[in-house]
Amino acid sequence: MAEELAMALCLTKFRAQALIGHAEGLVDRFPRVLALVEEGRVPMASAVAVNDAAVWLADDKAAVVDEVMAGRVEGKNPTQARRSGNLAVARADPEGLEERARRQRDARCFDLRHGSAGVAGLSLENAPVEKAVAAYVCVDRQARRLRRDGEMRTLDQLRADVALDMLVGKQFGGEVKAHVYLYLDALTYAGLREVPAELAGHGPIPASLAREIAAAPGTVFQRILTDPAGGQVVELGRRRYRPRAGLDELVRVRDRECRRPGCTRPAQFGDLDHCDTQGRGWKDGCPTNATTLVGLCRADHKLRDLPGWQHTVAPDGTLTITTPANQTYHAGPEPLLG
Ligand SMILES: [Zn+2]
Repeated sequence: MAEELAMALCLTKFRAQALIGHAEGLVDRFPRVLALVEEGRVPMASAVAVNDAAVWLADDKAAVVDEVMAGRVEGKNPTQARRSGNLAVARADPEGLEERARRQRDARCFDLRHGSAGVAGLSLENAPVEKAVAAYVCVDRQARRLRRDGEMRTLDQLRADVALDMLVGKQFGGEVKAHVYLYLDALTYAGLREVPAELAGHGPIPASLAREIAAAPGTVFQRILTDPAGGQVVELGRRRYRPRAGLDELVRVRDRECRRPGCTRPAQFGDLDHCDTQGRGWKDGCPTNATTLVGLCRADHKLRDLPGWQHTVAPDGTLTITTPANQTYHAGPEPLLG
């Protein structure tokens, strides 16, 4: 069958086999998601992304994910569908996630790969995510510090040079302080249940690992506890409760990514834009509160100021974007592991 398809569509056999795998997965395991594709409400690539995210699940658990994703996949591009699928999969099979995390971490390795003209590559694969992120933050901070001090090398070059210096034993002083958000259900943090957590920019991680990371001394991760019932943020980091936490941080933590549908840039490093029900911005007197602040990346923030674009925010926080072609798109923040 793969050979015939490969010839008919002029594909490699490998690619044809992958296509057949996706088709079988969708037909057998994701009938609800597939029905949305057939109705023209969801692009095929987003359905395939859901199937990919759930490829390791047993059939009964895949059926649960099918039901959850049928209510969530509409309006998501393949990247977002894959992320949302990862969360649904983690929730449907927390033990499987623990097992996979353990197996993948056992397969960690460090390799040297020779290039052709005076270069070589080093790769560290399957490293524990908390250590890999901490190491990257450490290197990036040092590179940015050098850059601020007037270095002419690019940030890419500086990160490479700093990482190599560190690997051969050169010490860099200075404290590493960076926030990497770890979303963790309050009951799970207390050890009362085992709901997978979410590491910003990475995806779901097993409950046991999340507790370990959240409690580690000198961690670069900021623990964010969520309400077990609604998945709302109830606490930001150690001893910092919602009323005292900065509004700025609360909005970034809530939005996680730029709110423009389809954009996946992290809200943590983007802008916060004022917008109310009438589409007023800060200059027009829009008030400042958690509802009227919207996380947008710099590019999408600029887009709003161009002629023909209009943003409004409903009282429930849903952002509506109207384009110059008079199309409207709606976006609320993705629920936390709910
Ligand atoms: Zn954006």
